[in-house]
Amino acid sequence: MSHYYQTHAITLHRRDIRENDRLLSFYTQDHGKIQAMVSGAKKIKSRLSGHLEPFAVVELGVVRGAKINKVTSAQCIFRYSRLMENIDKMMCAGFCLRFLNKMVHVGVPDKKIFTLLVSALEAINTEEPEYDVKIFNAVFTLKAMSLLGYAPELARCVVCKSEDMNEPIIFSFNKGGIVCARCRKGVEGENISEKERLFLQKSLQINFYEAMHPNEDEALYKKYNTLVSRFFMYHLPVSV
Ligand SMILES: [Zn+2]
Repeated sequence: MSHYYQTHAITLHRRDIRENDRLLSFYTQDHGKIQAMVSGAKKIKSRLSGHLEPFAVVELGVVRGAKINKVTSAQCIFRYSRLMENIDKMMCAGFCLRFLNKMVHVGVPDKKIFTLLVSALEAINTEEPEYDVKIFNAVFTLKAMSLLGYAPELARCVVCKSEDMNEPIIFSFNKGGIVCARCRKGVEGENISEKERLFLQKSLQINFYEAMHPNEDEALYKKYNTLVSRFFMYHLPVSV
């Protein structure tokens, strides 16, 4: 295995270590999440630091180490500079970065997660949010959870596998999806309407541009946020 590689990367997190060094987490196109050190990152004229600000895609050169990887080159390819213009946008983008930094294990390559992050940042960069940014964050959470192996079953009952929903149905967090009226006895979960079930399904298909311009009613979004956050907390009990 080569000791050196280059890949596109997005900075997820930065932490100072020792006097002048910094340990960064990246989500990379080819190697999944990685951690690597930048030597002298805090010196005023650091050659690399300027390229490693958050909210940018960077061409990164990394040397693998026995204990720690080192960043040897960094060239900014694209900066999502319009993100900085609006506190709501920065919060949305910051949420996406924190989510992946906390939820994804190091060294598990997944191009779909890189693509998810790029498309989220592109939408936040170019669109003005028309609604509470919590909706965007919930859509990102459910999409990311699905890629990480926690996709909820929303098309059929998780117990009897029937597609005939036979209301009233519930969303069971521990069973990972919808439970129909016939099977719901004794199962813990949240009552949901057919409209809410359909919106959960739809949210996994819409792109992030649509998530920036919601067009459903407020009560539906409120319920959606609650369902996604409870589903998330059940499976990944970590604060983002
Ligand atoms: Zn059933």
